[in-house]
Amino acid sequence: MHGKRGVIMGVANDHSIAWGIAKTLGAHGAELAFTYQGEALRKRVAPLAESVGSSFLLPCDVEDIASVDAVFEALKARWGGIDFLVHAIGFSDKNELKGRYADTSRENFSRTMVISCFSFTEIAKRAAALMPHGGALLTLTYDGANRVMPNYNVMGVAKAALEASVRYLASDFGPDQIRVNAISAGPVRTLAGAGIADARLMFNYQKAHAPLRRTVTIEEVGGAALYLLSDLSSGVTGEIHYVDSGYNIISMPRPEVLKA
Ligand code: NAD
Repeated sequence: MHGKRGVIMGVANDHSIAWGIAKTLGAHGAELAFTYQGEALRKRVAPLAESVGSSFLLPCDVEDIASVDAVFEALKARWGGIDFLVHAIGFSDKNELKGRYADTSRENFSRTMVISCFSFTEIAKRAAALMPHGGALLTLTYDGANRVMPNYNVMGVAKAALEASVRYLASDFGPDQIRVNAISAGPVRTLAGAGIADARLMFNYQKAHAPLRRTVTIEEVGGAALYLLSDLSSGVTGEIHYVDSGYNIISMPRPEVLKA
């Protein structure tokens, strides 16, 4: 990644998936800028950014499109262009990350979709304008997009739309040699993850049933991100790449688990 510059959106603390990605990219020579959501998070993000040699921090709340525009204006002013962008942003009211999907409110449905799905489209369009020589965009998704995961509810619907967006954006930006991919990560203990009711049960279920018999680390997600954001994956776009210890391939729990 030497000579490549990119933006990491979505670090909240050192447990964030975005941080696992940033650390890996930084260790491989990428030059990084970070966005943070609100002043409280700036204090957390600044020392992490510094540890990978970056002091380029920009505030961004994706609900405020002016702050999104300001990020890309600042990137253009300082760097001229970028080579990659990581979107690791998601939000839904935790009161609706429990119980039935059918009870989702119109207000939270819209907010979840804007923050967790449409923000990627808005950001991709602005990032692509700064990629005259091609580039790579990456977002984070979860298998609740495809299969019913208890309590994941409206986030699953937003992730399904996000995954479809990845394919449409890959098609739109492909002629400009801008690749668009997603990593579908297995459950990781993060702030966002903790908002889902019974997250611990999900975590333990994956440990028991995934082929690798464990959950994944943010560093493992970082390794896959390095591949998808670097020239190693120059022929890959529109892909949903699973980093989930293989959990998504499993249909039924093993008989010995059921009999126990
Ligand atoms: P996290 O809480 O560390 O990160 C979520 C980030 O989203 C935070 O940095 C937060 O500031 C940001 N965010 C939320 N609303 C925002 C807004 N309006 N404007 C700007 N930023 C906003 O949690 P995480 O688990 O690392 O989440 C990162 C991504 O990974 C999310 O898209 C999440 O859905 C996805 N993901 C998480 C898991 C998991 O188990 N933790 C699994 C698969 C996918």
